Amino acid sequence: MTSVPNITLNNGVEIPQLGFGVYQVPPEDTKDAVLAAFEVGYRHIDTAQMYGNEAGVGEALAASGLARDDVFITSKLNNSFHAHDDALEAFDGTLEALGTDHVDLFLIHWPLPGIDVDFVETWKALEEVYRDGRARSIGVSNFLAHHLNRLVQETDVVPAVNQIEVHPYLQQEEARQASAAHGVVIEAWSPIAQGLVLDDPTVTAVASEVGRTPAQVVLRWHLQRGDVVFPKSVTRSRVEENFALFDFELDDAQMGQITALERGHRTGPDPDTFNWIPR
Ligand code: NAD
Repeated sequence: MTSVPNITLNNGVEIPQLGFGVYQVPPEDTKDAVLAAFEVGYRHIDTAQMYGNEAGVGEALAASGLARDDVFITSKLNNSFHAHDDALEAFDGTLEALGTDHVDLFLIHWPLPGIDVDFVETWKALEEVYRDGRARSIGVSNFLAHHLNRLVQETDVVPAVNQIEVHPYLQQEEARQASAAHGVVIEAWSPIAQGLVLDDPTVTAVASEVGRTPAQVVLRWHLQRGDVVFPKSVTRSRVEENFALFDFELDDAQMGQITALERGHRTGPDPDTFNWIPR
């Protein structure tokens, strides 16, 4: 079976560079989707409290027969729980839903600059679950350079990752450089821009050159940039396609052509203005 390379995070924890994302997988379908991903070979699952499907991930983990240590699980704090005690209680809920005594990575999902609770305070709750070992690593998501720089300056534990929207049409150079300066690994969410970049003529041309699909070419571009990715699909053939990335390479010219597609196109919210709290 293909083996996915690991990336070593800034605290020494190893994360498989390719995982399986479950955003928008309905809770009732999540167990089967994750079991299918395990069968294909994925050993890294990216979920969140907001997705409502942590329990399905836990059911798949229990049914899979895999050892807990063989699977890397990430979850994220929902936007409604930024206050210190709420964050700790919500974290307990994550462990309960997943049926495990620890997560491998736990993230602040959004910085929420307009709410009363400052993300620096929220981070202190994450530092507690990191110190007591219930989160093997902690990180942030959707942090722009100025959010990240402030967090690093004002707190003790440097985030292990920053999970942000990255694809050929939105490459986030500023956040990327700030993350690199602090030794923070980038996780690229919506790596294929939910399909938007797959019809791009440059992408399809490179795909024909290397005899691969457009999705494989774009995912390979991310891997060669050193980022972590976890494409989402519930279609078995695509789950397999998105995993078959380790027996070909893009050359420098092909990498450059895809990088040249940058156009600052966000498919998701802007972290500087997004303050949505689920009710
Ligand atoms: P994605 O870029 O992975 O695209 C997923 C969609 O693309 C699927 O619904 C499917 O329609 C299509 N697709 C997948 N594989 C394909 C293939 N081989 N060929 C053709 N079409 C294909 O987008 P995503 O699901 O938004 O992002 C991936 C993961 O990133 C999520 O599941 C989640 O774990 C994470 N994420 C995090 C945040 C955040 O705020 N932290 C936000 C969005 C997503």
